[in-house]
Amino acid sequence: MTNHHYAVFGHPVSHSLSPRIHAAFGRQTGIGLEYTAIDAAPEAFAPALESFAAGGGKGANVTLPLKEAAFALCATTSERARRAGSVNTLIRNDGQWQGDNTDGIGLVRDLTERLGLDLRGRRALLLGAGGSARGVAPALLDAGVSELMIANRTSERADALADALGEPARAHSRYWDDLVNEGDFALVVNATSLGRDGGSEFRLPFQLSTPRTLAVDLNYGEAAIPFLAWARTAGCRDVVDGLGMLVEQAAASFELWHGVRPETAPVYAALRGKDASLVTAD
Ligand code: NDP
Repeated sequence: MTNHHYAVFGHPVSHSLSPRIHAAFGRQTGIGLEYTAIDAAPEAFAPALESFAAGGGKGANVTLPLKEAAFALCATTSERARRAGSVNTLIRNDGQWQGDNTDGIGLVRDLTERLGLDLRGRRALLLGAGGSARGVAPALLDAGVSELMIANRTSERADALADALGEPARAHSRYWDDLVNEGDFALVVNATSLGRDGGSEFRLPFQLSTPRTLAVDLNYGEAAIPFLAWARTAGCRDVVDGLGMLVEQAAASFELWHGVRPETAPVYAALRGKDASLVTAD
């Protein structure tokens, strides 16, 4: 038995691989923990989090669509959470929630460490302006991309994200329908949840890619199918789903809670073994 309770909150959340990942990290590092998935609709999130804390909850991950709500519930936040305006990691400290965001570092570590890519000087397109897009945008700038263009279905949210980044020379928004005029990108990142709506088609001009373009979907599994299909048809060189980022952001959260950095490669390999058809990275 352990009184170290951790959880991932989301809506829906039953699909989440986080409980398996954290259980594997716990076994690997010899840290006893209990990590569950808790479904909470946005209006039920605050009370659900409170009762989790009352029951001994020490830390939590937060996923769609609760990351911006989680930010608002924190007593203190890290600088990267404030830059993102969204929180994916909650840490219980002195009876209060402290918020951090490991999505950005998770994506960048997956691309630079696991895939060995250099993001410096690359022109990047970010699709989406929700909680996850807000998390990865500052990290892409920190990784040295030369330009970060943001497009979102609701254009005002892309404008707000670009403004919040405060780097008008590198980060700016465009209407989705105007992307056709923007030339090609070395990196195209899908941070929308379009694929979770039930496999609708990804409507994006093929001119955005060249044979040297890396296409990255934050989604994995079935939710990644529409964007990865677009990327392959567009002839992108590397096509990567979000499984590596998922493991890396989990490892960064684990380190915040337990002070130990787990090995991600074996956990990634185990998960990928079950889902090999959904990624190619050559
Ligand atoms: P949010 O709900 O905060 O944002 C959703 C985003 O998707 C918004 O930009 C929204 O646009 C856009 N969107 C939704 N439906 C459509 C559609 N039909 N067409 C075009 N755009 C659409 O979600 P998150 O940002 O938290 O998550 C986004 C995705 O990334 C999720 O599917 C999530 O599973 C995945 N993810 C993966 C991670 C990983 O570790 N691999 C980590 C975090 C997220 P609008 O503003 O117009 O509503």
